[in-house]
Amino acid sequence: MSVTAPTLPDARGRFGRFGGRYVPEILIPALDELAIAWSDLRDDAAFRGELDALLRDYVGRPSPLTFASRLSDALGYRIWLKREDLNHTGAHKINNTLGQVLLARRLGKRRIIAETGAGMHGVATATASALFGLPCVVYMGEEDTVRQAPNVARMQLLGAEVVTVTSGSRTLKDAMNEAMRDWAASVRETHYVIGSVAGPHPFPVLVREFQRVIGEETRSQLRDVEGRDPDAVVACVGGGSNAMGIFAAFVGAPDVRLIGVEAGGRGDGPGEHCRSLTLGEPGVLHGSLSYLLQDEDGQVLPTHSISAGLDYPGVGPEHSYLKESGRAEYVAATDAQALEGFQALARNEGILPALEPAHAIGWLLTRPLPDGSLVVVNVSGRGDKDLETVRTALGVDAVATP
Ligand SMILES: *Cc1c(COP(=O)(O)O)cnc(C)c1O
Repeated sequence: MSVTAPTLPDARGRFGRFGGRYVPEILIPALDELAIAWSDLRDDAAFRGELDALLRDYVGRPSPLTFASRLSDALGYRIWLKREDLNHTGAHKINNTLGQVLLARRLGKRRIIAETGAGMHGVATATASALFGLPCVVYMGEEDTVRQAPNVARMQLLGAEVVTVTSGSRTLKDAMNEAMRDWAASVRETHYVIGSVAGPHPFPVLVREFQRVIGEETRSQLRDVEGRDPDAVVACVGGGSNAMGIFAAFVGAPDVRLIGVEAGGRGDGPGEHCRSLTLGEPGVLHGSLSYLLQDEDGQVLPTHSISAGLDYPGVGPEHSYLKESGRAEYVAATDAQALEGFQALARNEGILPALEPAHAIGWLLTRPLPDGSLVVVNVSGRGDKDLETVRTALGVDAVATP
């Protein structure tokens, strides 16, 4: 099979039949402007130089590749961990928000907006906006502002305005609608920072390219220590940006298995999980065609995951393409498996991962790969934000008495 994913999407923003631009006409000029700016700047030495310096001096890149020695012994693999948890702000999202805010500045935009569910993307956007002195407005559903109160405080301390959205289900979906409405009304001076490889073209390719640094570093770091590419690369999939970022460097290496782990939640019933790729059907959400959790009438279904960052009914269009072309494989780990993954990494390696990448570890604990496999797991973020959730789920007693 010939895989040309590195050169996708096509001129219309399609990854095979997925992707595209299902948005109000008023936004098309802004999307065109963004696509053109990106194609001008992606190889521009000054732009690259500025972004690379920020990634090095502000984010702390390259992030280490850590050998998980005890976990490897326990499972019979050689497991390396890509440490996005060690980035400034504690996850991979900053790679994208810095890139987009830098791009927005080049476009002469004077205002940044974003939407956020769990708050992590809002915090990363507020961080990048503060760094450049740009005003930042973050839309957040009322439900989420209550559930994620510490992230609301973080955004406010970083100087962002958090707008509480009280329409609809008062969650991420409604916050996205409000952000789109704002953008349509203010597109000349405003850049909308989308947080994953989702949304209308060019966002899926833009975000992938800003996250590609994860995969490029991993490939060269692993060659230094192991002298070869891995047998498998494993990453959790919410919208799909940390997975697409690490996959991007290996997509053209057909011997490397690319494995995305979705949130299996509490079970396979509607509303119990976030398995868009493994249980969904193609449909349109947030401006692009991709796999989606929907009912027979095409209404978006509710979702559940123990990890807020994976709690999304859709997925980026390139993942849908990689699934249908067979280049990547998609699996799921339940809430319970994620908690096992969390504990396994904590107790064997001294690392408290975010609950999102804990799904990838949890899946690996089922020993699904051949003995002796050389595996890289993308540890997309750190677990500080999830301590309360983990303590509650495990029961405080279980935490107090090991
Ligand atoms: C937001 C988030 C995710 C999910 O987003 P993707 O776009 O699928 O990467 C995963 N891990 C962490 C730590 C996050 O903050």
